[in-house]
Amino acid sequence: MTPSPAVTVIKARALLDGTGAKPLVDAAVIVEGSSIKAIGRQGDIWLPEGPHVRTLDFPSGYLLPGLIDSHIHLSFGVYGCSHEELMNSDSDQTMLLRAARNALIHLKSGVTTVRENGARNRVMFDLREAAKRGYVTTPRLYLCGRPVTISGGHFHWCNQEADGVEGVRAAVRELIKDGADHIKIMASGGATTITDNRRPSYSVEELWAIADEAYRFGKLTTAHCLATQSLTNVLDAGIGMIEHAGFREPDGSYKFDEAIAERIANQGVFVCPTSQTGFRQREALLAQELERPLTVKEQSRLDDLKAKCESQLEFLGRMWNDFNINIVTGTDAVEILGDYCLGLELMSQAGMTNMDILQASTGMAAKAIGQQDTIGTVEPGKEADLIIVDKDPLMDIRALRTMTMVMRAGERIV
Ligand SMILES: [Zn+2]
Repeated sequence: MTPSPAVTVIKARALLDGTGAKPLVDAAVIVEGSSIKAIGRQGDIWLPEGPHVRTLDFPSGYLLPGLIDSHIHLSFGVYGCSHEELMNSDSDQTMLLRAARNALIHLKSGVTTVRENGARNRVMFDLREAAKRGYVTTPRLYLCGRPVTISGGHFHWCNQEADGVEGVRAAVRELIKDGADHIKIMASGGATTITDNRRPSYSVEELWAIADEAYRFGKLTTAHCLATQSLTNVLDAGIGMIEHAGFREPDGSYKFDEAIAERIANQGVFVCPTSQTGFRQREALLAQELERPLTVKEQSRLDDLKAKCESQLEFLGRMWNDFNINIVTGTDAVEILGDYCLGLELMSQAGMTNMDILQASTGMAAKAIGQQDTIGTVEPGKEADLIIVDKDPLMDIRALRTMTMVMRAGERIV
């Protein structure tokens, strides 16, 4: 890889800076080293010249901050293979190599930052170390390492089971010692076979102890919540962010709860609705159905995915439009990487405006993961994580399907 020049001038038709401000037309951004030095309208600001300056001119391009994926799993995922099969068949080394491949695929799709929400053992810490040494090219990585889960809980095979107030405090300390940037908690069951996603896992006391312990180290917390009761529990415990927000009742039905939504809004808790989870699996089964009758098992899986995908969009629309909850984008990608734009298209279907969606994917997401001083907006002093797309994403969010340029910390990737 050739070293980046000292100064880069990027010209574009318009800049959407991630703050929610109106687009700046005929924009120029000056990048020095890894960070943004100045921004202005071409003709209004002085643009450096000379052999040390690289000029990238995109007369029909739209310049935006690099996208942030607030919820991803880089190391899992082989299509058609359950988590349990994968845990039995793959070594940590295989997972690490897959994570390196997935990280680069995602980066090339415009995602310059990911918050990794769970892998086995030290896999993610090793990936970050490899990236730091320059062995691999990845988005910025913010890691939980392993999710904290009850004995036999969702993702227990990542190997951070912890029970009781003392147990969970010890788990948080161990994770921080290993290098965790945030603490991910499995507050209900999930797609792990022996768990129940309709019921909460941790008690409020345990959740409170995790939040308290994380807070003492200055770390943020986020909780996987599919069951409705788990939402109430994490709100009682003061957890800062909710993943999925499934609103699933003990009888298996999906039922939006306005009182809970009100609390999420009032407590300023971020929600990452992971709108696209299950969408591709549903598509695959629907395609299969056109070719041959589905087996009983496949049919019940399809029915389940239909209810899940539909409720996800309905609840997202309600959380955003009726309660003004802080929504951020996350793919929860496990099998298909580089598919970030699908979630944006679904957010649009759920009723968010394109400007809202861009915010959820940049400035708001940076706040949710505590990195608003470094990334998420195009402002002087911030890191030069930038993308260019050829169509106006305010007109059509599908503009973000194709990247004309991806830059991470001043280094051009695409
Ligand atoms: Zn996840």
